[in-house]
Amino acid sequence: MQQINISSGTRLVGLLGYPAKHSLSPFIQNIFLRDNNIDAVYLTFEFPEDKLMSAFNGARDLGIYGLNITMPYKERVHGLADKTDQLSDITGSVNTVRFDLNKESIVASGFNTDIDGFKVSLKEAGCSLKNKDCLVIGAGGAARSAVFAFLSMKAKKVYIYNRTPEKGEKIKKLFYGEERKKIEILKSFGIIKKKKIDFDLLCNCTPLGMNTQNMMDSIPVPESLELKNKIVFETIYDPVETKFVKKAKNEGARVIDGLDMLINQAASSFNIWFDIIADTKNIKEMVLKHLKNEKKSYIEKIYSNRKGKNK
Ligand code: NAP
Repeated sequence: MQQINISSGTRLVGLLGYPAKHSLSPFIQNIFLRDNNIDAVYLTFEFPEDKLMSAFNGARDLGIYGLNITMPYKERVHGLADKTDQLSDITGSVNTVRFDLNKESIVASGFNTDIDGFKVSLKEAGCSLKNKDCLVIGAGGAARSAVFAFLSMKAKKVYIYNRTPEKGEKIKKLFYGEERKKIEILKSFGIIKKKKIDFDLLCNCTPLGMNTQNMMDSIPVPESLELKNKIVFETIYDPVETKFVKKAKNEGARVIDGLDMLINQAASSFNIWFDIIADTKNIKEMVLKHLKNEKKSYIEKIYSNRKGKNK
């Protein structure tokens, strides 16, 4: 994809997760590095949970410049960082770490850029949430960031629907005063019809629709829920066109997909490490092309193996 001149001065940034090898972050971050002439490479590190502490401290001791953190380690790394910013404290999760030299020691600062991922993607799509009613489906880490992002964009109301409503209540308790009053927990989709609740935006923060564990055929809303003229925000990016995204497009909704969010949260992490605003204009097209080629070479591999066997 790109030429890297590695020297003893080359810095290392990377991703910690389990699994992590499937991630598109190396593709995106290595483009940012190349385009900004930064002498650094971005790699992935995949290891089981009992190795997290030693991997995190090892990264610090080895002089790794910065890290992204993905599932399932975002919450634990919030506890491992020496300092955390306000957004990561609100969400209780860290997806970006910057290591800084302070006198003799290296300090790990934790950040959450998922909130930026939501906000920048909405702004880029020209969507204002002022006085809008939003529905967040799910109540995990991404949902917490979504609720925070939507309230900070002046949404009138944020409904949370999760199969475990208590987790939605927990999110509500993270907020105070007027913001808390704007959050309402929905215990079932039936209530939407019964109470005639309407939404301007619907955001999927569950893995329903993801290319894993037979979830690809799932959809986070009832098929009967009309999406015409809504804003539909999908956080899943594998596949980019989830069943929810397809339904939204077919019915004439405005769609923001998981790739938009991934690219924008990646740009925000890059800015934290290098103090540079990366140009994201052509990245989506490049990622989609990369995914298409990966699929092609996978198919070619299967057939060439089969040809080999038939010889
Ligand atoms: P998480 O903390 O594990 O939360 C997952 C949520 O989904 C929980 O509320 C869980 O419900 C719900 N859920 C899980 N399986 C379900 C099922 N079979 N049916 C109904 N609900 C189910 O995960 P997360 O970090 O929030 O991530 C959620 C999604 O956001 C993932 O798809 C992830 O890929 C995506 N994401 C994307 C980006 C991006 O840059 N595009 C960034 C962050 C996250 P319970 O509470 O009942 O368990």
